[in-house]
Formats: sequence, C-alpha cells, structure tokens
Amino acid sequence: MKKWQIYEIFNSLNNVLAGSTTKKPNEPYSYSLAIHTGEKVEKIELNRKKFEKYFPDDFKFVSFLQIHSDIIIDIDSFKLTEKWHKSSIKADGIVTTKKGVVLCILTADCLALLAHDPISKTIGIAHAGWRGTHKNIAKKLIEKMQKKGAKTENIKIALSPSIKSCCYEIGEEVAKNFMHFKEALVQTGEKKWHLDISIVNKLQLMDLNIKEENIEVSTICTSCKNKDYFSYRKECGCSGRFLNFIALI
Ligand SMILES: [Zn+2]
Repeated sequence: MKKWQIYEIFNSLNNVLAGSTTKKPNEPYSYSLAIHTGEKVEKIELNRKKFEKYFPDDFKFVSFLQIHSDIIIDIDSFKLTEKWHKSSIKADGIVTTKKGVVLCILTADCLALLAHDPISKTIGIAHAGWRGTHKNIAKKLIEKMQKKGAKTENIKIALSPSIKSCCYEIGEEVAKNFMHFKEALVQTGEKKWHLDISIVNKLQLMDLNIKEENIEVSTICTSCKNKDYFSYRKECGCSGRFLNFIALI
C-alpha cells in the first residue's frame, strides 16, 4: 500500500491511514470525489475507483450527507454492504473502532477533523464550517469517541487544509458567534472580519484537555492554494470537493 498521508502526527503509528486528497496534477488523487457538485457521476465514480486502488480490496468507504450540523454517527451499528456506503442520512461526523472502514469527509474550504486514539483504537472524522464550529462539533466528535473507549489524553488529531483568515471574510452576523476567540478573528472594516475556523477548532479541542502537541493544524489555506485544493469561495461555488479520510488498517 502506498503511504501518502500528509499528517505528521499519525506518521509514527502503523495502524492508521489518514490524509487529504488534492487536485495537484501529478498526484494520484488529483480529482474531485464528490457526487453532488454537478459533475458527471460516471467521472466521479471513475475518480473514486482510482482512489480505492490505494486500499485493500475489502475496505469500505463511508460518508453521509453533510449539512453543517453537529450530528456524529457511530458507523459500527451499520451493515456495510456496498463499496461506497450510500446513505440519505444527514450527519457531519463518523466514528468507528472497526478496521477497513474509511471514514470520509468532502470539503472545499471547510475544515475536516481527523482523530485517532491509538490505545482504544478508535477513529473519528468531522466536518466543520463556521456553523459546525459554532455548534462545537469538535466536542461532539470527541464525546462520541469517548463512548467507544477513547481517552482525551491519548487522542491525536489533525485539522485539514481549510480557508484561513487571509481569505475568509465574514460579516457581523457570523463574526458575533466568535468574538471570544480573539486569536481566530481579525477585524478588517466597520462590519467586516476575517476568520480562521481551524484556530477556533484547535482552541475548542484544547478546552477538552486534548494536548496541544497532539493537535496538528495544516498551514494550508485552500483559497490561497486553489491550484492544489478545491476552494468553494475562490471558485465561486463551482468547485469540486477533495476528500479527507481516516481508516484503521
Ligand atoms: Zn488564504
């Protein structure tokens, strides 16, 4: 199996595979992997087949309809029969303790949280835009993992590339939800702010006693690095989605 994860925090662990795909032309995952963005379904299915090749044959891929909620699903109660679990269930996070289940979150500017407790062998993933961040989905993810035996002192977590404060302009109605996160919010005009949701999520995780050294925050801004990553804002809503994933192997 090709090793291609981009998160150093999981590098020393040999029982987990985690990463984010890109659209870099010379890399194996340089494709959109989202069905719902208006591209031809056959093309996306072909892209997904290319992605599957980097996993053992019996691995299953799981994602839900992401709706900017704080709903986290324990996938272990589901019977996975299809290669890509097709579901009409709405959720923004998934946890498992089973090997061979690839937890997937599709993003283009939003943040993905990829979490792993190597002792209890629990993994989780979540999708956080500003709404999910405001609902503290990071906390909901960790709580769901704790129900499966994970402990905060053991959890390692990576925060994916996302749109950063250099590019993420927001109005007052959004900014007012984050006024107490001074490090994440920069005022740029009378009613204009710039927000970094990865910083908010990091602070929310540290509030739960996740150790700072166990949190890896990608420095990549998806809008600045739009050549390599899909960006919903930069591409005026017409972007594909890259896939963030974590699996026990
Ligand atoms: Zn930027």
